[in-house]
Amino acid sequence: MTDCGCEKARRDLEEYLRNEVCKTEHNDITEHLDNCPGCRDEALVARTLTEVVARACKETAPEELRDQILARLRAVQATH
Ligand SMILES: [Zn+2]
Repeated sequence: MTDCGCEKARRDLEEYLRNEVCKTEHNDITEHLDNCPGCRDEALVARTLTEVVARACKETAPEELRDQILARLRAVQATH
């Protein structure tokens, strides 16, 4: 039994989303995200940002855009 590995999950999130972590670690993070709504939100935001950024020719997403995405995600979740 491991306790919440939020710190580790978030540290590895970027690599996880780019499929750059090894299979064991990938499973660990997937499992953590299944059990941790906070990190799941973080992963969702990070994934959305990654897609937006990829579309924007790899420019860094501005803070404002991140806030907008977060606000939208919260709004979506609030309706469910
Ligand atoms: Zn967590």
